[in-house]
Amino acid sequence: MLIPSLRKRHPLTHEPVPSYGPGRDLKFQDIEDLLETYLSKREIASIYRAYNFGFQAHAGQRRASGEAYISHPVEVARILAGLHMDSKTISAAILHDVIEDTPTAKKQLARGFGSEVAELVDGVSKLSKISFTDQAEVQAENFRKMLMAMTKDIRVIMIKLADRLHNMRTLGVMRDEKRKRIARETLEIYAPIASRLGLQSFKHELEDLSFKALHPKRYVTLEKAVKQRRGNRKGLLKKIENSIDKRMRQDGLAGKITSREKHLYGIYRKMKQKDLSFDEVFDVYAIRIVTNSIDNCYRILGALHSLYAPIPGRFKDYIAIPKANGYQSLHTVMVSPYGVPIEAQIRTVEMDQVAEAGIAAHWLYKSGKVQKETSNWISGLLDLQKQAGNSKEFLENVKIDLFPEEVYVFTPKGEITVLPRGSCPVDFAYAVHTDIGNTCVAARVNNHYVPLQTQLRNGNTIEITTDKRSIPDPGWLNFVATAKARSSIRHHLKHLQKRKARKLGKDLLNKALHAFSLSLSTVDEKRIEALLDELKFKTREQLYEDIGLGNRMAPLVARQLAPLLDEPNDSDKPLGPRNKGVRPLGIASDEGMVIHLAKCCYPVPGDRIQGIATSGRGIVIHRPECPNISEFRNRPERLIDVQWEPDADSLFQVMIHIDTINRRGVLATLASTLSDANCNIDHVDMDDRDGNTSSLEFLISIKNIEHLEKVLKKIRTMDVVLSADRKYI
Ligand code: MN
Repeated sequence: MLIPSLRKRHPLTHEPVPSYGPGRDLKFQDIEDLLETYLSKREIASIYRAYNFGFQAHAGQRRASGEAYISHPVEVARILAGLHMDSKTISAAILHDVIEDTPTAKKQLARGFGSEVAELVDGVSKLSKISFTDQAEVQAENFRKMLMAMTKDIRVIMIKLADRLHNMRTLGVMRDEKRKRIARETLEIYAPIASRLGLQSFKHELEDLSFKALHPKRYVTLEKAVKQRRGNRKGLLKKIENSIDKRMRQDGLAGKITSREKHLYGIYRKMKQKDLSFDEVFDVYAIRIVTNSIDNCYRILGALHSLYAPIPGRFKDYIAIPKANGYQSLHTVMVSPYGVPIEAQIRTVEMDQVAEAGIAAHWLYKSGKVQKETSNWISGLLDLQKQAGNSKEFLENVKIDLFPEEVYVFTPKGEITVLPRGSCPVDFAYAVHTDIGNTCVAARVNNHYVPLQTQLRNGNTIEITTDKRSIPDPGWLNFVATAKARSSIRHHLKHLQKRKARKLGKDLLNKALHAFSLSLSTVDEKRIEALLDELKFKTREQLYEDIGLGNRMAPLVARQLAPLLDEPNDSDKPLGPRNKGVRPLGIASDEGMVIHLAKCCYPVPGDRIQGIATSGRGIVIHRPECPNISEFRNRPERLIDVQWEPDADSLFQVMIHIDTINRRGVLATLASTLSDANCNIDHVDMDDRDGNTSSLEFLISIKNIEHLEKVLKKIRTMDVVLSADRKYI
């Protein structure tokens, strides 16, 4: 709405914005009309002085496109005037390149236009010096400067984003390599910042322009497909709009219905992320209804749901619980009579402005609310910066934070708690207090008891039941999402070995008994008593513990407990030396105490695995190829059948070996590629072979073998990388 090339209408007056074309130099007159719509004569006069100053400072300079340089800052000013930014911002936008590209000093600007404008220009100049090269360390440094500028004055970021937007629009004239670099930087840094500030229209245009520069062919193909499809379904969309309009009239509800389309990059990303076809992504009738009150929003929702059946689970109330960037709207998806779902967004005029302009809505309406939300985010980032040990860690935190991934839940008293997406009631309990986490036994979400690993959703109210005698369950480690929960549970686990070993031993014995068609509840009591006697154990628990710690082999114990003549019948199974017919023990993670994943061959889900019982340490899981288990080949009583649990979803360590060209910043580049591929780096070893190549070993955490393959593939495509492989042993 606010950017001329996206919608050539003025956001507030909805009047057409004067058209302009490349090749014509822009002058002050080109923005004067727009300024007059919201600024005073005096303010416009001061902007005009800034224009004259800039005009002279840039005299003789030309853009790569051939236009007079002043066209660029004027265009940047026009973009910001579209957002109704104040006159100081507009002046600073016109002057934004004079410190950087001309000898004009900051002091001179301060004298001529006041210190506020000078500070803004200086802030933008500092940001402009920052080029996000592929060195993670440097990037983090840049982020810091950027955030400093942000906290001082968010308007610096707004100018920088408008500057980037215009540069992206005129990217065509750049060399291919430079164009791609700028596009990637825009996609990784600026579009997410625009998104986080709620500048939806900036974000979409930045993403589309980057997409076009990075993948010109895909862009054109997709653009064509969208155009064609849009033509095909115009009629149906009109029919739906008419039916909705009619229903709303019947109910006496006023609202403006518009159809909307996903931007190209949004479609592309969805196709790629969810592996969907174009039809699957595009075949949705998406409409938006803007009305005049919150009450009407809910009533329109009701009208829609009585017209078309809503799809369960797709309704989202962002009015009651706004997104972190201030976005508010009702979302629902309904079944249409035409076989394609209808996605509807319903919101008020104010919410619509915030949805499109985000932080800029502050200047549009001077409501103040949005800015407050956003500065919370900024101060959050600054806290992170203080806590993070080094630049890289900070960069990761910032990157995570730029993608709003949080869920908002309520305590029973109605206080809002923010947790990372994927959090469960245990995370919530630990977020409230460590003691509550440690003694948590049950949870109710919206008044219903749920399993503790249930993923929390926005708006859930959570009530935790505690029991003073209870202690954390090691199994929680498999599903908690917050660092706080994880470290608290780990801390407690140190004292849990005995208990855990008993449980595991009991499990192992039960499984071993299955081979004899027995279980602990059906086995002959007398035989157990006899065995305990023989082993000099007082209780069954001691036996279980001994088994769990790997001192005693469950299959052997099972054999001792089974009736003598009742050997398992395994004639239909391949011959093997050990516990035939026993269901393999399921492995879901490195449980640290009694199930260890070997640190020599680093097995991950998808690998074939072999368990080895070790005295006192429980079971170690190796890959069968691992030379370290060859000595056990002749000791079948030590070998334990294991298999991955199909839903093992924790992280697994694996060692990878990478040979690279020796170049400065290689390590940082690799590190950021690895984190882009969603794997944690746990350890790095580096060895400069000779002047030309380096050999690196990364210990990383990944989900499974497919994830590993993807990571390796991604690394192999980097131009500094000669080879990348899983390290065998
Ligand atoms: Mn510029």
